[in-house]
Amino acid sequence: MTPLETSAIDTEVVVVGAGYAGLTTAWRLADAGVDVVVLEAADRVGGRVFSQVTPSGVRVDHGGQWIGPSQRRFHALAARFGCRTFPTWETGRHAEIRADGTRVDYAGGAPDTGPGIEEYERVTALLDDLARTVDLEQPWSTPQFTEFDSLSAEDFFRAQTDDEDALARLALAIQGVWCAEPREISFFHVLFYLASGGGYEQLMETRGCAQDARFTDGADAVAHALAKSLGGRVRLGEPVLSLRQTAHGVEAHTGRTVVRARRAVVAVPPAVIERIAFAPALPVARRGWVRHSPMGRVAKVHAVYEEPFWRTAGRSGIATLYGDSPVGVVFDNSPEDASRGVLVAFVYGDRLDRWSAGTDTERRQGVLAALSAVAGPGAGRPIDYVEKIWPRTGWTVGGYECFLTPGGWTRHGRDGWREPAGLVHWAGTETASVWNGYIDGAISSGERAAAEVISALAAVGHLG
Ligand SMILES: Cc1cc2nc3c(=O)[nH]c(=O)nc-3n(C[C@H](O)[C@H](O)[C@H](O)COP(=O)(O)OP(=O)(O)OC[C@H]3O[C@@H](n4cnc5c(N)ncnc54)[C@H](O)[C@@H]3O)c2cc1C
Repeated sequence: MTPLETSAIDTEVVVVGAGYAGLTTAWRLADAGVDVVVLEAADRVGGRVFSQVTPSGVRVDHGGQWIGPSQRRFHALAARFGCRTFPTWETGRHAEIRADGTRVDYAGGAPDTGPGIEEYERVTALLDDLARTVDLEQPWSTPQFTEFDSLSAEDFFRAQTDDEDALARLALAIQGVWCAEPREISFFHVLFYLASGGGYEQLMETRGCAQDARFTDGADAVAHALAKSLGGRVRLGEPVLSLRQTAHGVEAHTGRTVVRARRAVVAVPPAVIERIAFAPALPVARRGWVRHSPMGRVAKVHAVYEEPFWRTAGRSGIATLYGDSPVGVVFDNSPEDASRGVLVAFVYGDRLDRWSAGTDTERRQGVLAALSAVAGPGAGRPIDYVEKIWPRTGWTVGGYECFLTPGGWTRHGRDGWREPAGLVHWAGTETASVWNGYIDGAISSGERAAAEVISALAAVGHLG
């Protein structure tokens, strides 16, 4: 124990982080009869999934909110704990606000005509073709791996087309899925991620795709149920400051508590891993990997109204915005019973950097102007206005997830992605092969990490 530490706990496995990945790891381990302690820095579980009730009484999800039909692990857990979902609202005409401010309403998933659409569709079809070549378990075995990883998404798009309208559409897609700019992200990572989620349409669309449904009681309801079943094994307000491997196992120090265990599972995003002092230091490949893995930059802003008035005007509330608006995408996030109207605005990438530098009033005006352009002037007068700026969230530093910068996969992927470092194993959505970056990926990463630890403990006779 260090001088300030007041308690010491002995257990078999210590899990760092109580997001979906850490909670699933612990739940699986406990289920297998392994003694486990979860240390969570924040004062709540759920990590990047966080729901709250606004002053006017509407539950909103500040972070992860949607579940798609092929996210079967998340569906299975939700069913296990009786957490209900309902379809995302998408009835009515969607809107596209173009760079020159013109508004075009359209029915169906995406506009059929418009500037740049043909080229955009040609390039996105090519993305799907290339994504089908990705090896999800051993990404470095993918044909043209090194070539694609040496490029940014922007390099690839510009080599494909000089149509600036198509490039603007592709840029909004990158912002919408990774909360980053095309110049920042490895083109191979784009392909890996598309393959991981089942293709471009899966990631972008609503019905039958990743944005299919929402949770009646918030998307963190399943996390709360997992934590409840783990009981006192989950300790909140315990940031792991250092993690030491000793001759006897591992020691996790929080400044208040030391937890001694045979193995550790670190289930925090790569971008915050280096806040933990590891002894011995992490392997070079793992350090290289985390340094190539910045977090996306996103804010979600909810505006609450007495009712979803845009629905009666035949509008869905779904919109994409180009040009100077801080907002990239808008959805109708009203509760299932439509007892209030809720619009959610997403602010991403460079737009987030500019918008978040403004005063409270400037930020609010910018978002409400965008919502008025989408839903009509009534959208400028919400009864609640709630911002969640994820890069300001201490233990997460952004969202939705960490992405790889060019060269990261090639230089560090094989040994740095999720290979254990001695007695330290890795979980977290960024380590998933399927639905990487999503809640479902976080859950599968926890299942994999728990299985790794169980077989490691069994191999040295510490189990059964
Ligand atoms: C705005 C936003 C919208 C999103 N939308 C969706 C969506 O609609 N659908 C979807 O599937 N996914 C969505 N995602 C992504 C999804 O939320 C994440 O993929 C998922 O929650 C990641 O879970 P995780 O357990 O891997 O990591 P996290 O949820 O980040 O959990 C890590 C935990 O570790 C804790 N921690 C960090 N450092 C330490 C430390 N040193 N010691 C102890 N604890 C520590 C953190 O506090 C956190 O609780 C969204 C994310 C954001 C931010």
